Amino acid sequence: MVLLGPPGVGKGTQARLLSKTFRIPEIGTGDIFRNAVKERTPMGVAAKTFMDAGKLVPDDVTIGLVEERLRADDTKGGFILDGFPRTAQQATALDALVHRNQLHLDAVLEITVDPTELVRRLTGRRLCAVCQTPYHLESAPSRLPDTCDRCGGPLVQRPDDDEATVLKRLDEYERKTKPLTEYYRAAGLLKAIDGNGDVESVNARIMAALQAPVGETA
Ligand SMILES: [Zn+2]
Repeated sequence: MVLLGPPGVGKGTQARLLSKTFRIPEIGTGDIFRNAVKERTPMGVAAKTFMDAGKLVPDDVTIGLVEERLRADDTKGGFILDGFPRTAQQATALDALVHRNQLHLDAVLEITVDPTELVRRLTGRRLCAVCQTPYHLESAPSRLPDTCDRCGGPLVQRPDDDEATVLKRLDEYERKTKPLTEYYRAAGLLKAIDGNGDVESVNARIMAALQAPVGETA
């Protein structure tokens, strides 16, 4: 299956839960890149050449990396793609890849949350500059303001999480990735998931949607 949704919607958390439930790997593009570069696979070497030159890794290399990963033994029982595809071109390439490896997609889950809620979730995130413990101003605050409970280190905001950058990331999702949902809806694979509420409720909605016949959405 494929998990889609804007930044801050909780895709990664849900991917981990689904991975446990179905005993299939959750595959994020970040992990694929890191592992392929470390293992020096053919596509990993190609990707590193672009990264070392400070260039964006082109789509065909990214797709090659995903293909290498999906050919691994642990995906025999299935896989969860998190963060891929991101664009219409990548979605078309994924279809071709799936086809030539005799795989298939069972479902594409799109998790959505109100944009104002996403901004609140993302801009409230803080991280200990020393031990990297994550906090949230509202949902997981530190006992003392701006101070890590564990080590007393200062809490900082990642540059990615400041409001202007968050709005830019959400806008990019709307423009580039959102059109994929129509593509997958037309293919009869899309299941829309309400991402509001706690992790367990969202997971319950996903499980219900996966059991519902194709076309019905939670
Ligand atoms: Zn700390």
